[in-house]
Amino acid sequence: MDPVDPAALAAARAVLDGARRVAVLTGAGISTDSGIPDFRGPNGIWTRDPAAEKRSTIDHYLSDTTVREAAWRIRLESEMWAAEPNAGHHAVADLARQGRLHTLVTQNIDGLHSAAGLSADHVVEVHGTVHAVECLGCGDRGPMGPVLERVRQGEPDPPCAACGGILKSATIMFGQALVPADLARAERAAIEADVLVAVGTSLNVYPVAGMVPLALELGRPVVIVNAEPTPFDDAVTVVVRGSASDVLPLLFAPRSDGGSEMSTN
Ligand code: NAD
Repeated sequence: MDPVDPAALAAARAVLDGARRVAVLTGAGISTDSGIPDFRGPNGIWTRDPAAEKRSTIDHYLSDTTVREAAWRIRLESEMWAAEPNAGHHAVADLARQGRLHTLVTQNIDGLHSAAGLSADHVVEVHGTVHAVECLGCGDRGPMGPVLERVRQGEPDPPCAACGGILKSATIMFGQALVPADLARAERAAIEADVLVAVGTSLNVYPVAGMVPLALELGRPVVIVNAEPTPFDDAVTVVVRGSASDVLPLLFAPRSDGGSEMSTN
């Protein structure tokens, strides 16, 4: 990736230095430097295999055993289990320690923001998490580990231990509704924060991408940190082109005047 443009970084720092409460929206791009491919970047899962996007729908998952068996095989081999937070995730956690993080809204399902030390009251995982399973019959939830072990032991599509229903990771597939309380927290973050920083997201997935136009309508500064162009680049305050793990530690370093404020989130 090209070196970060110092002028863009300085402009973004100036925006951040003036902010007491920062909302951060992250997407798959913040985790690529932890070894987890994104969907739509040049090396993305869907860029390489467009059919994979079609398979990620709840109707296919419910109606086709072979889709579920493939999903469990893919989960078993996922790079997410071994992934560690990178400097980008740690920089967001550091922003929280400075008392300047309003809310971290993530589209990611990998749990790496929590692994970096962010507490649940700071994190909204709008697309759920791979670290839990849920039953599509009775709604029972539990940790992913024991169910993956059942797959490893030879159950290709393990049913719910409580009711025999279909299990899946506790993530939101296409065709599934998002959790209204999570969406409300995301919207509140865009409304209440002094600045919104969107990181590693193509801003193609709604309604979460709608945080950006919402913040702009309210006259809030918006900073985009992304490896590639997004549909909002011309509308926002500053775009910093580069890798999240390079840019965020510089962007979220303590304010130049050493000031800090308590978050009211
Ligand atoms: P996306 O794949 O649509 O876009 C990712 C963006 O990040 C791209 O524009 C790419 O150029 C950029 N990018 C890649 N590496 C980067 C880096 N190191 N630094 C900065 N930018 C980088 O991802 P999205 O917008 O999050 O939407 C896709 C959906 O995919 C989300 O709903 C999410 O749930 C899911 N997803 C999650 C993970 C994960 O949990 N890590 C991984 C893949 C997909």
